[in-house]
Amino acid sequence: MGTKQIRLETNLLGANNMMAVKNRRIFKEAGLLVINLMSSPGSGKTTLLEKTIEQIQGYINMGVIEGDLYTDQDALRIENKGVKVVQINTEGTCHLDAGMVEKAWRDLGEENLQLLFIENVGNLVCPAEFDLGEDFKAVILSTTEGNDKVLKYPLVFQKARVVVLNKIDLLPYVDFDLDAFERDIAAVNPDTVVFKLSGRTGEGIEEWTQWLTKEVGRVNL
Ligand code: MG
Ligand code: ZN
Repeated sequence: MGTKQIRLETNLLGANNMMAVKNRRIFKEAGLLVINLMSSPGSGKTTLLEKTIEQIQGYINMGVIEGDLYTDQDALRIENKGVKVVQINTEGTCHLDAGMVEKAWRDLGEENLQLLFIENVGNLVCPAEFDLGEDFKAVILSTTEGNDKVLKYPLVFQKARVVVLNKIDLLPYVDFDLDAFERDIAAVNPDTVVFKLSGRTGEGIEEWTQWLTKEVGRVNL
């Protein structure tokens, strides 16, 4: 039974990877930078997107694919900011896969986009295993979750090109060891780019959006 289960998982990931290759080609032809945003529930992904939109609106044409288990609350928040958004309800599935993203991209039907965020389902485990065809993965960790998450969920941090530490305004009130966080990130993934910010107060947002703008420019060279 163990063997059968392993084979099924391999096939599932194999089919996903083929679709991801196709997505990546489509996105490249469209001249898009695509970021797969992953985190636990409540880390502030949607708030970070809202703040990001406020900063880059008018400079960068951005779209969002919102993965959510059941609701469209996050999609509505993005839409209220005037950004084109497509909602994927996974109906209980704890991650997005490349097929869902391909369909959402067609539904988005947006030409001339430069930047596409895919907000994955809130979960630090299996989203890391599914390539969606993105340019890179970004993980958001908030100070309220604890610095131990880096070593508890190393795969998601290993696969991320960017790590955003959110809610730094709460550092004085929570048991978050910033030195341990930085040490552990450097051990797990020395090449990752780390941003420390607060989606609530806006502190550090500019460094993040400036970097993002440069990355978008690189794709459109
Ligand atoms: Mg959200
Ligand atoms: Zn899953």
